[in-house]
Amino acid sequence: MLPPVDEEQLAESPFTALGLGRPIVEAVLQKGYSQPSSIQQQCIPAVLAGRDVMAAAQTGTGKTAGFTLPMLERLRHGPHARGRIVRSLVLTPTRELAAQVADNVKAYSRHLDLRSDVVFGGVKINPQITRLQAGADVLVATPGRLMDLVQQGAISLDRVEILVLDEADRMLDMGFIRDIQKILRLLPAKRQNLLFSATFETSIRRLATGLLHEPVQLQVTPENRTAATVEHILHPCDMARKPDLLCHLIASNDWQQVLVFSRTKHGANRVADRLSAEGMAAAAIHGNKSQGARTRALAGFKSGELRVLVATDIAARGIDIHQLPHVVNLDLPNQAEDYVHRIGRTGRAGHSGHAVSLVAAEEHELLRAIERLTGKKLPKQEIPGFEPTVLSAPPLDLSGGRGRSSRGGGGNRGVGNRGGVSRSGRPAARSSSRRP
Ligand code: AMP
Repeated sequence: MLPPVDEEQLAESPFTALGLGRPIVEAVLQKGYSQPSSIQQQCIPAVLAGRDVMAAAQTGTGKTAGFTLPMLERLRHGPHARGRIVRSLVLTPTRELAAQVADNVKAYSRHLDLRSDVVFGGVKINPQITRLQAGADVLVATPGRLMDLVQQGAISLDRVEILVLDEADRMLDMGFIRDIQKILRLLPAKRQNLLFSATFETSIRRLATGLLHEPVQLQVTPENRTAATVEHILHPCDMARKPDLLCHLIASNDWQQVLVFSRTKHGANRVADRLSAEGMAAAAIHGNKSQGARTRALAGFKSGELRVLVATDIAARGIDIHQLPHVVNLDLPNQAEDYVHRIGRTGRAGHSGHAVSLVAAEEHELLRAIERLTGKKLPKQEIPGFEPTVLSAPPLDLSGGRGRSSRGGGGNRGVGNRGGVSRSGRPAARSSSRRP
C-alpha cells in the first residue's frame, strides 16, 4: 500500500516548484523523497526546458531521478508510443543498472499511462520482441541487446525524442563505443540528449562533442571525491591472509550487509565459498555468472537473505542498495577511479558509510594512485593477529596482456601469489587464496 498524498503536500513540494506535474510528484512523494538532491535541482529544470545536458554525477547522487522525472514529464504530454516506436531511450553499461533504472522508471511513472520496458542480453530475446511490438515510451537497454533487437526489426529508433547515456564512461570502458555509434546513426537528428558520466576523460568529451548541442553542464560531487560521509580505513595484511581477515572483520564487528569487491572472478568465487563455509550467507556476482544467478544474488542481498555479496567491479557497477553500510575492498582496484566508484555504494544520499580496504605490500602502488586521485591518505590500522609479515613486494602485474577495455567482470589478472620480502628477510609465503 502506498502512503496517501494530500493536495497540500503536492502543492508545497519542492518537486512541484521545479516544474514537475502532479502524477509525477505524487509518485516521488510516495517514494519518500521530500527534497530534490543537488543533481535533481539542476537537471530537472534543464531537461524540462528541452536542453541537452552533460552531467558529471556518480551513482548515489540521485541522478536516475534527475533524468527520469523530467523525461517522464515531457513524455506524458506527447502522443504515446505505439507499434515498435521508442520515444525515449536510456542506455546503460550493465544489465544490473538497466534493471535498476527500469525499476525507477516504473515507480516514478506509476500514475502515468506511459509504457516502459527494459531489455538486456543474457536472457531470451523473443519475449522482448513480442513485448516491444506495442512500442515503448521509455526503453532502458544495454547497447548489445538493443542492436540485436534493431537488427531483427523488433524496434525502430527513428522516432526517439530523448536519448540518455547513463554511466557513459563505463560504457566506453566496456568497449561499447561502436554499438553506441551505430545506435546514434539510427536516431533522428532532432532529439534531446542527456549524458551522465562519473568522470569526463578525453574519450567522453570526444563523444559529448559529437552528441550534445549546447549542453547545460552540471557537476555534483566534485570529480574524484568520495562522499564525505564515508569513513575510510585501511588494514594492512598479507595477501594470503585476506580471506581470514575478511571473515574476522565481518564476524567480530557483526556486520550484516557487506559488499566485498574482488579484482578477479576467481577470487570472488573463492571468498564467497569461504564465507559460506564459515556460516555467513554469501554469494559472488561477476561476468561468468548467468543473468539469473546475478539477479537472484542481488535480490537476496537487498532483502537481507544474503549477508555478503562478493562482486567484481563491472558486476557491481551501479548497484543501488539503500544505505549500504559496509564496503570492503578485498583487493584494491586496478584503476584508481574504481575506488571512487566502489565506495560510491556506501554513505549514499547523506547516510554514513564504512569503506574498508585490505591492502597487501604488492598493492602499495595502487594505494598511492588512489591517494593521489582522492587527495586523501587512507587512515591505517593493523588488526592484531593479522599484522603483515611482508613489508615490501614487487607490484602486481595487472597487464595480463590485456587492455583496459577488457575489464568486463574482472578476469583472472590479479597475480597475488608472488613472493615478497618478509619482516624476517625471508621470501614470504605464497598466497594460496589468489592462485589462478
Ligand atoms: P541514484 O544516484 O540515481 O542511483 O540514486 C541513489 C539513491 O538515492 C537511490 O536509492 C534513490 O532512490 C535515492 N534518491 C534519489 N533521489 C532522492 C531524493 N530526492 N531524496 C532521497 N533519496 C533519493
